[in-house]
Amino acid sequence: MVRALREHGFTGPILCDANRYSGRRRSTALAGVRAEWTAEQHDLGLTAVTDSGYLAEHDWAGLRRILSEASRQPGEVIAQLPLAARWFEHSVDGLVAELNHFGVPVAVAIEHAKDPFSVRYLIRGFLSLLAADVPVLLLRADVSAIAASFHGAHAAAIGTTVALRHVYPRGGPGTPRLPSIAAFVPRLLDYRPLTTLATQTPPGWSCDCPECAGRPLVTLARSPRPEATAFRHSLSAQLTLHAQLRNRPAPIAGWHELCATALAEHRTLAETLPDWHTPTNLRAWYQLTRDAVPDGVFHQDERAHG
Ligand SMILES: [Zn+2]
Repeated sequence: MVRALREHGFTGPILCDANRYSGRRRSTALAGVRAEWTAEQHDLGLTAVTDSGYLAEHDWAGLRRILSEASRQPGEVIAQLPLAARWFEHSVDGLVAELNHFGVPVAVAIEHAKDPFSVRYLIRGFLSLLAADVPVLLLRADVSAIAASFHGAHAAAIGTTVALRHVYPRGGPGTPRLPSIAAFVPRLLDYRPLTTLATQTPPGWSCDCPECAGRPLVTLARSPRPEATAFRHSLSAQLTLHAQLRNRPAPIAGWHELCATALAEHRTLAETLPDWHTPTNLRAWYQLTRDAVPDGVFHQDERAHG
């Protein structure tokens, strides 16, 4: 895969995810990390990400095993931490202390039955984790990756499929049915199945991302290769959003404002569509950033772009 991307001319950074931590036969953290997996990535000229197993709540021994083994690997290594959501409820201070002690950059994937960033304690805990002395990356997220990056995450990954945007609990009720192809709808800051775009979003909604170049979103479903087109549009629209926020004097205030606008769109659509689902992560981010953004900064940002 890495070689194929390079052969296609991709020159950006690439990180590999061994994904030993999810699914029915996932490994646990105490299995440690495999030196061969790390070496293979170094041979490809990459910064290596460890192939860590799942870190259940309170598995401090597993956490130390991953961090100590990662710290002893040669070359550039990121310790992957596939964490149960509950780590973020009471254990973040201890987690930060361990990260600072071992001094290894970490990539966090968070297990949750729905969306970890729909829970306010988790966002708070995650933002506290970002205060660690080491770089913290976020894996397997959705649009919350954009917010994470402006709150200090070193990098954040958005999955191209439903499964890659989540880490579901093993055998839990949240295990999704076969996902249909979904596309990111910028005005909603959320994904919607391609099959429902035509019936559930206003026909005039278009996308200004470089892939769509102003085309109406409903045309995504008519593409000869809808899956590839939806992936390209979604990533491109999210990168566009990220770039727009980065150019603002106060990106977090800008994110807060985007959440407010998207929530208003959701409210309007919910009035006519009884089964409409408003994503809970937007509410959580909206409320938390309202607390975090001082009035002055928000209004200053508003004036600059109002
Ligand atoms: Zn687009």
